[in-house]
Amino acid sequence: MSDAPGRDFIRQIIFEDLESGKHDEIVTRFPPEPNGYLHIGHVMSICLNFGVGEENDGRTFLRYDDTNPGKEKQEYVDAIERDVHWLGFDWGDRLTHASDYFERLYESAEKLIELGVAYVDDLSAEEIREYRGTLTEPGKNSPYRDRSVEENIDLFRRMRAGEFEDGTHVLRAKIDMASPNMNMRDPTIYRIRHLDHQRTGDKWCIYPMYDYAHGLSDAYEGITHSLCTLEFEDHRPLYDWFLDQLKPEHRPRQIEFSRLNLAYTITSKRKLGLLIENDVVSGWDDPRMPTIAGMRRRGYPALALRDFVKRAGVTKKDKLIEMSALENCVREDLGDIAERRMAVLRPLKVVLTNYPEGQVEMMEAMNHPNNPDMGTREIPFSRELWIEQDDFMEEAPRKFFRLKPGGEVRLRFGYIIKCEEVIKDADGKVIELRCSYDPETRSGTGTSERKVKGTIHWVSASHGIPAMVRLYDRLFTIPDPNTVDDFMEVLNPDSLETVDAILEPALADLGSGEAIQFERLGYFCTDSTEHSADAAVFNRIVTLRDSWAKIEKQAMQSG
Ligand code: ATP
Ligand code: MG
Repeated sequence: MSDAPGRDFIRQIIFEDLESGKHDEIVTRFPPEPNGYLHIGHVMSICLNFGVGEENDGRTFLRYDDTNPGKEKQEYVDAIERDVHWLGFDWGDRLTHASDYFERLYESAEKLIELGVAYVDDLSAEEIREYRGTLTEPGKNSPYRDRSVEENIDLFRRMRAGEFEDGTHVLRAKIDMASPNMNMRDPTIYRIRHLDHQRTGDKWCIYPMYDYAHGLSDAYEGITHSLCTLEFEDHRPLYDWFLDQLKPEHRPRQIEFSRLNLAYTITSKRKLGLLIENDVVSGWDDPRMPTIAGMRRRGYPALALRDFVKRAGVTKKDKLIEMSALENCVREDLGDIAERRMAVLRPLKVVLTNYPEGQVEMMEAMNHPNNPDMGTREIPFSRELWIEQDDFMEEAPRKFFRLKPGGEVRLRFGYIIKCEEVIKDADGKVIELRCSYDPETRSGTGTSERKVKGTIHWVSASHGIPAMVRLYDRLFTIPDPNTVDDFMEVLNPDSLETVDAILEPALADLGSGEAIQFERLGYFCTDSTEHSADAAVFNRIVTLRDSWAKIEKQAMQSG
């Protein structure tokens, strides 16, 4: 059998199942619990499930695992749909909920009772835990384990009818209290919860457990390959047990793959929720969050995320992937499509003393250095300009090719200038440079042979637009914040820096969320929530170069 290069182990299984005729259509599902926003780990699962569906002309369901009333919110449901669509996938008419099957699941539970493999237990939650045993000791049978079918049916119906308080009874599978797999020690199938459900209201006061509801929902939908993360490996015998007992028409197969974890951040909805509760970030879509909503607002293109998880690959090995791998995908994607602009993040005034007062020249600038098709724009040049504070050094080392006292530099798309005088305030801080310009050196005119080593960006002071620019950094100071007891202790206090920047006037026309490159600085986009025509707010998507790769590699190697 030919094995296409790059086919991961799940795609290989699917390929073989199609070749052998075991299946003629592939059906998968992405089953989020709507108790938070989706994160980069979910991108992996979405791309895998919808990806193998598309690749094989199959079908993929978006199924909400809504078996936990109380924790789920409409806001999360809306966010999940927006995010999956934004990534470029569509479930068509296959939007379902575990709660769609509550009646069928209930009927199947009665069937388990009739088969003699499920019973109503009156033990308290604590007693059940005690009876369960440990990894090294077998559990004990509940005294209620051998109730008759009639008695069990009667009790289970009364559970449904609301006769009992929460926690007084549960329905359990009768499997094996001595099983080395704790999941097989008579797991709970139904519990009583007098709690309204966001979809079924007060219709139910008993709710099925995930392990039970999930596998059967898979079977009801004709899922062929139920792809989940490795923590469910120990649950597979139970997944199969329910199918063995109930023999549904379609028999899904559960296959586990490893979770995708990203260094310097966390991928757990619960923990991400804590960051919001503790005001570390402004919300689920804070651009520092590894949520899809956060990454979208930050300016990461959907394609870059898809590309990233593809490169990370589907495996069985746990992995903590370097943030730089994700950022490289973002850079690669933006490199070709983002137009170039000039902006000064930390402005320092430059006055060209020999440039006529009041004169303005329009300088032609390429929108993309490697792609003339992206056109040009005009940038106003005048006597007073802003340059980047970093591009000037008073006591500069020999190899500093930007501006220094007496030194020369080219202004991109402009002229060569020479620093004649440094002006400081009372504290000795440099506040202005007095420079001369060489009129023979205008860019693109070719009138002067003169060359200088450095080129810097600038913005005309009287034409520049003020903007608030947010510079983001890692949320945490260590690669794996999950390894410490309290991840709040390893937060990076400098994950957000805000600067008052000056932008070239062409940036006034930038659309919401549109990404551009500020030359020499990085990729930026307007903030989809706070940017307006009157008050420009930009986010730094990613820097141009990877200043983190080395540090990250070292930190990850040393644990
Ligand atoms: P969280 O711990 O963040 O709540 P979860 O696994 O409980 O994650 P679900 O909403 O239940 O979140 O997950 C939906 C699907 O996404 C599941 O099939 C799950 O296995 C998968 N998934 C969740 N996190 C990751 C991850 N880090 N890498 C790959 N797949 C993931
Ligand atoms: Mg979960």
